Amino acid sequence: MTSTPTPEPLRLLTPGELHNYSRSQIAAGRRIGLVPTMGALHAGHASLVRRARDECDIVIVSIFVNPTQFGAAEDLDRYPRPLADDMALLASLGADAVFTPDAAAMYPPGSATTVSVGGTLTTTFEGALRPGHFDGVALVVSKLLAAAIPDSVYFGAKDAQQCAVVRRLITDLNLGCDMVVCPTVRDADGLALSSRNVYLDAASRRQALAIPRGLAAAHDLFAAGERQAAVLLAAVRAELDSSPDLHLDYAVIVDESTFLEVTEAGLKSQIVLAARISDTHLIDVLRLGADETPAVRQDSSPVRGEAPDVAGV
Ligand code: AMP
Repeated sequence: MTSTPTPEPLRLLTPGELHNYSRSQIAAGRRIGLVPTMGALHAGHASLVRRARDECDIVIVSIFVNPTQFGAAEDLDRYPRPLADDMALLASLGADAVFTPDAAAMYPPGSATTVSVGGTLTTTFEGALRPGHFDGVALVVSKLLAAAIPDSVYFGAKDAQQCAVVRRLITDLNLGCDMVVCPTVRDADGLALSSRNVYLDAASRRQALAIPRGLAAAHDLFAAGERQAAVLLAAVRAELDSSPDLHLDYAVIVDESTFLEVTEAGLKSQIVLAARISDTHLIDVLRLGADETPAVRQDSSPVRGEAPDVAGV
């Protein structure tokens, strides 16, 4: 038996090329799904691509480490960029096109337009920790949506505040595409997959596992009927306190669309948190109305590469 080689996705390098490609697909009556990423793809990204593959005729994935969403002291330069691996994965997932612009193609000299979603949505929590971050996100997402003109755009629930910001942007600018939010994919030990997990050594990673343990504890309390935000958050903090090098930046319960804090948790609220260990910024979320449990195995603490392939791409 011969196996059919996986066709290489089409490489698109400029917003103009992306736009022309999308327009020709639309003219042919095809439904377009866009998956924006910064590359260093893992099973979380793959789940978005698979969902797009299921729902659309044409799947476009963008890979762009967007400088405007990184602060001056952040990890723009060291952010992983394994493009060959990413392309191979996207070929195996059946992506039709991959948009890989460089910064000059996205922000040519003379670029002067900014996009800013107003209000507390962009200034609290991640917005407070990373001033300007959501302006960079709003700008690049606006540019990607303008160029790709997708019917649906796919995001991960893990970046909960980003989802709320992008939803606001799509509504306010009448961008007219559906936003699909996909569940958080975790490694076998419960840690949410993130391109930044490669920064963690084995010891840091073990300490970081207090995050999914804390969320799992809150999940169990919520399932048992507890609704007081303070009680649920105390359960999260109790776990995080067991990891001495893990510094909690915030842990709050917010309404999923306004991102305002609530004192009573409900099915439309979510626990969002950010913590740092050895300069690595980790975020996580528990959507209380969704049937998602941060599955945590107590019997081992695998490091990346050793984890069983439950989240395997
Ligand atoms: P990034 O490359 O980190 O900008 O992420 C690109 C997209 O993948 C965003 O919509 C993220 O929310 C989503 N994503 C990242 N990690 C995960 C994960 N563990 N599970 C599901 N989606 C994810």
